[in-house]
Amino acid sequence: TNISELDFEKIQVLGHGISGTVYKVCHKATSNHYALKVVHGDSNPEVRRHLLQEIDILRRTDSPCVVCCHAVFEKPSGDVSFLMEYMDSGSLETELKSHGKMSESKIADVARQVTKGLHYLHSKKIVHRDIKPANLLVNSKKEVKIADFGVSKIIGPTLDACNSFVGTCAYMSPERFDPEKYGNGRGNYDGYAGDIWSLGVTLMELYMGHFPLLPVGQRPDWATLMCAVCFGEVPGLPENVSEEFRSFVDCCLDKDSTKRWTAAQLLTHPFLCHDSVSVS
Ligand code: ADP
Repeated sequence: TNISELDFEKIQVLGHGISGTVYKVCHKATSNHYALKVVHGDSNPEVRRHLLQEIDILRRTDSPCVVCCHAVFEKPSGDVSFLMEYMDSGSLETELKSHGKMSESKIADVARQVTKGLHYLHSKKIVHRDIKPANLLVNSKKEVKIADFGVSKIIGPTLDACNSFVGTCAYMSPERFDPEKYGNGRGNYDGYAGDIWSLGVTLMELYMGHFPLLPVGQRPDWATLMCAVCFGEVPGLPENVSEEFRSFVDCCLDKDSTKRWTAAQLLTHPFLCHDSVSVS
């Protein structure tokens, strides 16, 4: 079908990312709202490569737990725009800032949807590599969806690309800091388990209200983080949480990436399978 960027009217700026600007737009014919991410054409081959990768990933995804991309517009100037479903309630990061810590039952709901999304992506051989509250978007139907494929990688014939340093180091797994010690024993790792670690850190943050691996207020510089993640105790939840929640987070935060649960295993975990979780 012949939809064009001209069919949409920009309403407001939703945010600026590393690679471009995201607008809320209105489809003139139907008055439906969408998000349009506009990435300015860049002659830098590295940026272009990233962008083409993002397009490729988005074209291959179709899951209720992953933000849907309806169309990609490429202009002769080299600008590329992504027409996405509009998530009208912001991200879990903004929600945490405005409403504070979340209840266990709310977190179980988030965990269920994000684990489903990760299971979907991993089954398509896509590693997200940047799971964190800011990249989990929410809408008024209480749906939580994985967004921002800017740094995702498709697992190709070599694992090399996964070993390059990208993404936000705060949510990075031990094997990304030290593949020799925490990887698969050959100084390598596949990246899937890294997304699960990031999910565990994210869920802890939603419960505690602050980034859980460092003392409150400490700036997460690379060296401090590496020490906390690789040499520190595996972080744990406070005493008063349910057994199911504690166990789920433990399964995500096994330092040994080969023992960490996969998304498929986590989907069978009692924390996700109960309709409601007992909150003391
Ligand atoms: P980048 O990947 O370049 O860092 P993002 O894709 O993270 O940029 O988007 C920047 C901002 O736009 C984010 O803060 C996010 O909240 C908002 N945003 C992105 N996609 C959507 C969407 N589909 N619906 C609503 N807001 C969005």
